[in-house]
Amino acid sequence: MDESTRQELRTHLEKRRAELIEEGNIRAESQRDDPSARLDEDTQPLSEMNQVIASRRNRVRAEELAGIENALRRLAAEPDEYGRCVDCDEWIPLGRLKLLPWAQRCVQCKSENDDGGRGHRRRHAMDFVD
Ligand SMILES: [Zn+2]
Repeated sequence: MDESTRQELRTHLEKRRAELIEEGNIRAESQRDDPSARLDEDTQPLSEMNQVIASRRNRVRAEELAGIENALRRLAAEPDEYGRCVDCDEWIPLGRLKLLPWAQRCVQCKSENDDGGRGHRRRHAMDFVD
């Protein structure tokens, strides 16, 4: 991978990171300022459901953000190793990286990692990004 490609991926990562952070700020802001967010007996169940949905979204966003931070760190620390699959050591195809620059595994390892049929492998935070 050449430096201009890395730069392109880095830009993509930073843009996505900014979007995720922005999204989080807007959501927190609107919850605080919205007077209809006040709890009463009629709106409470809906509000609880919304909180569950919001916290799930927050978690997904936090995980994606963590994956992006991780990729940016790898790009900064070991630019020559960036894009190598963490499982099989093969290079992840550039087309995949352009789509998912935070990916840590090639498609094959990713799907093996996903099949869930092998023992009691614990899912971890990064599973959904790569
Ligand atoms: Zn692999």
